[in-house]
Amino acid sequence: MSPASTQPAIEGWFAEDDSGSPHLIGARCPQCGTYVFPPRASNCPNPGCDGDQLESVALSRRGTLWSYTENRYAPPPPYPAPDPFEPFAVAAVQLAEEGLIVLGKVVDDTLAADLKVGMEMELTTMPLFVDDDGVERIVYGWRIAS
Ligand SMILES: [Zn+2]
Repeated sequence: MSPASTQPAIEGWFAEDDSGSPHLIGARCPQCGTYVFPPRASNCPNPGCDGDQLESVALSRRGTLWSYTENRYAPPPPYPAPDPFEPFAVAAVQLAEEGLIVLGKVVDDTLAADLKVGMEMELTTMPLFVDDDGVERIVYGWRIAS
């Protein structure tokens, strides 16, 4: 049996630096400086800008908690959900440098009662599900910054 491998659930939304710290991959318009996540190659989202070439950039690993909620219901198929389902928190985090608000799942042991708007959060990664080939699929998520 070969060692279990891990792959992102979605290609190209996050990466890890040499030390293993994850960061999100966004895009930035060189004309007006607007950031966007998830990344895309064209079509600046700023209505006052006609920029159509966005460049790929590494986004801040930290931000402040802007809002959050707790999901108490398993998502319907085709979305993968653990069985038995465990409630989890979802956080909207405003990135330190870019000001973008990025929604993500919160690590398993942190629920809404542990969270407070304005807290410092940092990016992490977590397993989402194991696919039919036995590959563990990873997503980015948030945890309370240490
Ligand atoms: Zn622009």
